[in-house]
Amino acid sequence: MRLVLFGPPGAGKGTHARILGEKWKIPHFAAGDILRRHIREATEIGKKARAIIERGELVPDTVINEIMADQLAQTEARKGFILDGYPRTLGQAEALEKFLEGQRETLDSALYFKTSSPVILNRLSGRLNCPKCGVNYHRKNIPPKVEGKCDRCGAELVQRADDQPETVLHRIAVYETETAPLLNYYNKRGLLTEVSGDLEVPELQQELAKVLARYSKSR
Ligand code: ADP
Repeated sequence: MRLVLFGPPGAGKGTHARILGEKWKIPHFAAGDILRRHIREATEIGKKARAIIERGELVPDTVINEIMADQLAQTEARKGFILDGYPRTLGQAEALEKFLEGQRETLDSALYFKTSSPVILNRLSGRLNCPKCGVNYHRKNIPPKVEGKCDRCGAELVQRADDQPETVLHRIAVYETETAPLLNYYNKRGLLTEVSGDLEVPELQQELAKVLARYSKSR
């Protein structure tokens, strides 16, 4: 199974990518988590990416294309993968297509998480993130078992700098101009699958199990 997940910020891509990856035992690569790891480790990439991410803008295609090609070149990605937050521009989609061609592989589907604005704003304003393992929580909807601590690794949860309301609005605008054109790109290639990002996690998992059954059976 080779999947791309895209949609506006707060659509639930990260949450579902993680669940699907565990279910199918294939790696999921979250572009945002990888960039945040670079920032924490103060790598050259991290130093440059920090201000861009905090402004709610996109890091340059060349930077993210190289990072993701490294991830996809890993042996564990040969049995399949789930990409969360990559590609996010037409240039990135083209780079991914070329990379896969070079590996004699193709995507099975690009899942578009169609999500309404009130849902996005509610999710992002209450979102808490584990800086260590990347898991997302929500103050009301998906609270951690112990307040302020990650269920998985115990790290202190934080509100991401780019989840501040003004930055969220800018990220949505960037999504509309840069990422929304992927709808047409993947539709033309017959790869587009639309699901509703407004659904709660268990409902959307059920929906995903249905729409992805034809792929999971064939691999
Ligand atoms: P969300 O999906 O909620 O916007 P992510 O964690 O996927 O959050 O991304 C956070 C930020 O990381 C983005 O706003 C952007 O600055 C940067 N980023 C993530 N993925 C990409 C990408 N594919 N291309 C460029 N920048 C990216």
